[in-house]
Amino acid sequence: MQVQKVKGTKDLYGQEMLDWQYVEELLRSVAELYNYTEMRTPIFEKTELFKREQDSSDVVNKEMYTFTDQGGRSLTLRPEITAGIVRSVIENKLYASEELPLKYYYLGSNFRSERPQKGRYRIFNQFGIETIGSKNPILDAEGVALAYTALAVLGLKHFKLVINSLGDKKSRQLYREKLTEYFKPVISELCPDCQRRYTQNPLRILDCKVDQHHPAVINAPMVSTVLTAESQAYFTEFQAVLKLLGIPYTVDDRLVRGLDYYTEVVFELISTHPEMGAQAALVGGGRYDQLIADLGGPDLESFGFALGLERLLLALNAEEIVLETNEPLDVYFMPLAAEYQKQAVALATICRAAGWRCDLDYFARSLKAQFKSASRMQASIVAILGEDEIQASQVTLKHLASGEQVTVAMNEIVDQIEDWLAHDHAGCAVDHQHEH
Ligand code: AMP
Repeated sequence: MQVQKVKGTKDLYGQEMLDWQYVEELLRSVAELYNYTEMRTPIFEKTELFKREQDSSDVVNKEMYTFTDQGGRSLTLRPEITAGIVRSVIENKLYASEELPLKYYYLGSNFRSERPQKGRYRIFNQFGIETIGSKNPILDAEGVALAYTALAVLGLKHFKLVINSLGDKKSRQLYREKLTEYFKPVISELCPDCQRRYTQNPLRILDCKVDQHHPAVINAPMVSTVLTAESQAYFTEFQAVLKLLGIPYTVDDRLVRGLDYYTEVVFELISTHPEMGAQAALVGGGRYDQLIADLGGPDLESFGFALGLERLLLALNAEEIVLETNEPLDVYFMPLAAEYQKQAVALATICRAAGWRCDLDYFARSLKAQFKSASRMQASIVAILGEDEIQASQVTLKHLASGEQVTVAMNEIVDQIEDWLAHDHAGCAVDHQHEH
């Protein structure tokens, strides 16, 4: 019986895995430059953490993997990570014991039962940040800058920043009333989802893929028409800081985002590469000033974003960006007979302790076949163990780039390899400076 993976999921290996590791490491290091520390929360949580009564988003209403465990509890595989982090902050009272604002970053899998397509998977990975316990447009702009910088440092060129303000609680209430009034005469013409959204959160109608060309949706009043003076000022200040940081943006009055909890500033970083098609949103986020109180915590105002790793990798591919993932082997050990393999593994262990990447042949193949493997693995040095070498307790070392070859006593192997590798690394120190 051959079992295949579930539709909408993905295996990572080989070069693609190396690309992922490179990107993950880069994202971590950018987050750390902004003094974020990592938080990891459980992959499943109690369903009620995600399913809040008033939430109208498709993610929460239609796409969650919810199951009943052996104890009869309803659990859900997380569709996003913010809710788990907020739960942890409240449960562990981190706001009382740690410096505010709390600054966490995360990397992990999410689960949504969406229709799979390019750039849309049922298990996908997000990197993101949460800044909890402060309301300041500088913080929001800094968060956007973090995401923007990460994309730019990876070499992406074809992307744009789109921002909007959804206003504070009062603005949102006014907008809701306005939209309820506005859509009342036409609601029966809209799709069944929009009819549900109409009662739950009419703002969501603006985000509908089915009705996006309906004249009533196109001509709906903008949120900017109801922003309170405070929200307007906040949004203006946010833009001033983006300008100060040299980050170009456009305001899109239609940007409402997929989850319900956003207030004030929202943003997306969108790939403008034609190959990205409909799934071009690389990063999405904004401010959520009520979520923590909604989940039973104190009044803590927060900001965060999530970046989709699968989409980021697709965008890097679309722009034909080659990441420097090359990790050549330092030493390849070549025992020419099965009985020399123990000697090879012992020497490899000594070299690994010295910090070098080592591998060996396990098949006692011919010298020629072993040389081929060494070259495929881009080994810098090969260490040959043949009959002569074993009898004399020696090893023949060959530096492949220079062709230089020496036979040394086994206990001198570290000194010789050190000389060659130090020389090699000195030669490329300038090229690889940015890796360190
Ligand atoms: P969201 O949590 O819906 O605001 O999404 C934030 C980011 O996660 C998006 O901009 C995408 O990059 C990524 N994302 C969301 N849903 C999916 C999915 N089903 N497959 C792949 N990436 C996704």
